[in-house]
Amino acid sequence: MRKEHWALISLFVNIVQTLLKLIGGVLSGSLSLVGEAVHSLSDSFASVVAYLTLKFSDRKNERFPYGLYKLENVGSFVIGVFLLLASYEIIKRALTQEVSIKEEGWGFGVGVVLFSLFSSLTLSFLERQAAKKHNSPTLLADSYHTLTDAFGSSLVLMSFLSAHMGYQWDRYFAVAVGLLIVWTAVGIFKRELSILLDVSADEKTLQRIRELILDDVVEIKNLFVRSSGGKLFADITVTLSGMNFEQMHALVDRLERRLKEEIKELEMVFIHYEPAENFMPKVGVLLNSEKEVSSKFDEALYLLIFHNGGSKFVKDLPKDELEISKEVVRHNINIVVSGHHPEEQDAKLVLSKAGVFVWETEEKNPYKAVSQIASSLRA
Ligand SMILES: [Zn+2]
Repeated sequence: MRKEHWALISLFVNIVQTLLKLIGGVLSGSLSLVGEAVHSLSDSFASVVAYLTLKFSDRKNERFPYGLYKLENVGSFVIGVFLLLASYEIIKRALTQEVSIKEEGWGFGVGVVLFSLFSSLTLSFLERQAAKKHNSPTLLADSYHTLTDAFGSSLVLMSFLSAHMGYQWDRYFAVAVGLLIVWTAVGIFKRELSILLDVSADEKTLQRIRELILDDVVEIKNLFVRSSGGKLFADITVTLSGMNFEQMHALVDRLERRLKEEIKELEMVFIHYEPAENFMPKVGVLLNSEKEVSSKFDEALYLLIFHNGGSKFVKDLPKDELEISKEVVRHNINIVVSGHHPEEQDAKLVLSKAGVFVWETEEKNPYKAVSQIASSLRA
């Protein structure tokens, strides 16, 4: 099930609860139950806003080039205002009017409250399961909200039970429901305000971004990710070791694509790059079965990578010049060492597009070949 399906299910549950609570509240005279009806009504609005945002946030045009993804924030703000007005009204009535629960409506009212309590608890549980499965913070936040809905219903249940025992305490429970609504509204305003002020993405997301690019850059100088209307906008500055502009540009393109693929909420990624000062190229040596430098590309079985003073061994190379070249590019190698250039045009093209330099050598010992490169780079 997708995110918008949950918005629809929650809309359905909230509409049913709104109607039943309103009828139950009027029949029994319980102000706390009427208050809960207002709460469910605002939750229905919220579901509609969430659903519409998911549907329309991608509509981009010249006047709104970023899309209408902030619709949800505008909608939430309106709902927050509505909740504050509603809670004011409920609390005012609780404090100024005669409130009592009537015998006649008691049974129906309790039925409504029990149904609401049960449906909110079930929905909250299902939303939490789905949030874990899809790793969705929005759904998780929804499941917590639905849990506070269940709390609201249990307040009303207590009011009905105390009325049954002869205590007409509904006005106090109505005040409690009113305060619960105020608390929900304050939560909404707090969230919307932080989005308005370009709040950063959470630390988990930042860490994930670092992990995805750290291996291919020398240093991450800046990592700014702002969260806005459920989408993320990243501004990253890195230091790169590259042979030339083309190579660094190709690497940055690959990193931007990788980030967008792995983190679905990322709407835009800008990676700014600077060349590293003490540039040490990443060197890959193609080796044949005897652990010697392979004289041809398609005879290579292993790839030995030297970088930042360490080395890494890649086994099971594909038996194909093009595939080997792609593997070399995947490891962001600057110089690849082999006896000869690849023969296939496709393979040559892949390497040159990524700015990989092919270093031809007669030397069979990989370590000697690499020190040759190092000494000629120093010269
Ligand atoms: Zn609610």
